[in-house]
Amino acid sequence: MAAFPPASPLLSPLASILPEHLNLMGYVDRSEVNGPDCRAVVWVQGCCRQCSGCFNPQSWSFAPNQIISVEALVNRILREPRNQGVTFSGGEPFWQAVALAEVARQVKAQGLSVMSFSGFTWEQLQAESAPVGSQALLAQLDILVDGPYVESLAIHEATSPVSSQNQRVHVFNPALKNAINWASDQMEVHIFPDGSRLFTGYRGQVGLFD
Ligand code: SF4
Repeated sequence: MAAFPPASPLLSPLASILPEHLNLMGYVDRSEVNGPDCRAVVWVQGCCRQCSGCFNPQSWSFAPNQIISVEALVNRILREPRNQGVTFSGGEPFWQAVALAEVARQVKAQGLSVMSFSGFTWEQLQAESAPVGSQALLAQLDILVDGPYVESLAIHEATSPVSSQNQRVHVFNPALKNAINWASDQMEVHIFPDGSRLFTGYRGQVGLFD
C-alpha cells in the first residue's frame, strides 16, 4: 500500500479537466454488487496510490479518458428508472470531489442514494490536506467505504461488503442502516448492445473486453 499521497505530479492532468466535468474510466447502470439495491456505478479515472493487488490499475492514470459534463452524467444516471442510487468508485473519487458533489446533489434531489468508495480514510478526508471539495462530497454521501485495498488483509468471503479488513463502511443515512446487502466476492457481467462486456463486483474488478 502506498502512503497517504502527497501532492503529486501524477495529478497534473486534473488541471486540464474543465469545471463541471469529470474524467471517467467507466460507467454502468443497474449494478447490484456495488452498493445497496440496484444502482449506477461511476468509475472515475485517476488514483495515485498504486496499491499492490489493485483491481483496477487501468484507473491509475489521470490522463483524460472519458470526459463527461456533470449535466450529462446526471441525465445518464436518471435515464435508467431502475437505478435507485449511484456509487462512485475508481480510481479515487475524491480527486474529482467538486464535480461529484454536484452530481450527488442533483441525483439526491431526485430521490437517489449516493455512496462512494475512497482510498482515503474518513479522517483523512476531513483534514485540511484532503482533496478540494472533499467536505462537499462527504456532505452528500449516504454511505462511504473508506481505506485503500491492502492485499495482505484481503477478505474473500461471500458476505463481506469490503475487500480488505482495514476498510470500513460508514452509513451516514440511518434509512440505509440495514441496506449493507452487497458482497465484495460477487461478480456481475454486463453485456452491451455492441457486444462489449464489463465485469464488476468480484474483488471490485472492472474490465471491458471486445
Ligand atoms: S486506492 Fe483503489 S484504485 Fe487506487 S490504487 Fe488503491 S485499490 Fe487501486
